[in-house]
Amino acid sequence: MILPILKYGSPILRKKAFDIDKGDAFKEIAENMALTLKKAAGIGLSGPQVGALKHIFIIDTTPLKETGMEIIGKSYYNPVIIHFSDNYVCYNEGCLSIPGINEEVMRPDKIEVRYRDENFDWCEEILDGLIARIFQHEYDHLQGMLFIDKLGPLKKKIIRSKLREIMRDKY
Ligand code: ZN
Repeated sequence: MILPILKYGSPILRKKAFDIDKGDAFKEIAENMALTLKKAAGIGLSGPQVGALKHIFIIDTTPLKETGMEIIGKSYYNPVIIHFSDNYVCYNEGCLSIPGINEEVMRPDKIEVRYRDENFDWCEEILDGLIARIFQHEYDHLQGMLFIDKLGPLKKKIIRSKLREIMRDKY
């Protein structure tokens, strides 16, 4: 089932999400989210963006295959970032909840993460490059944070009117 993606201005996007218990019907949420992400041709989608305040996100790098990047299609449950590298890099980010806005964002280039996989087994990985970038963007959503929060005051001012437009059309 394709789910509606909440847009900037929806209060849910600013709330903290909760851990998933093994008993939760998380597989169905994950399947619906994967379909929704494909339909939207995005590369990442988090629970709060579809109104599920749960620690879950989906990454699907299929739209980036032209770049030669390895294709990763996975769901991540209860993810945590254990370690951030000190080296920051800039990358142009966008978000399905903030259509039409793309801005350069600085983030650590390498992270160490822990999460539960599709079988609800714990995994630990060191991520770098684009996958580290997407993981951090999606992880932020679970804390009620958006990539635009990381922009400097000048850029925030520039996008203010665009954000107002998104809020007007949010339903
Ligand atoms: Zn996003």
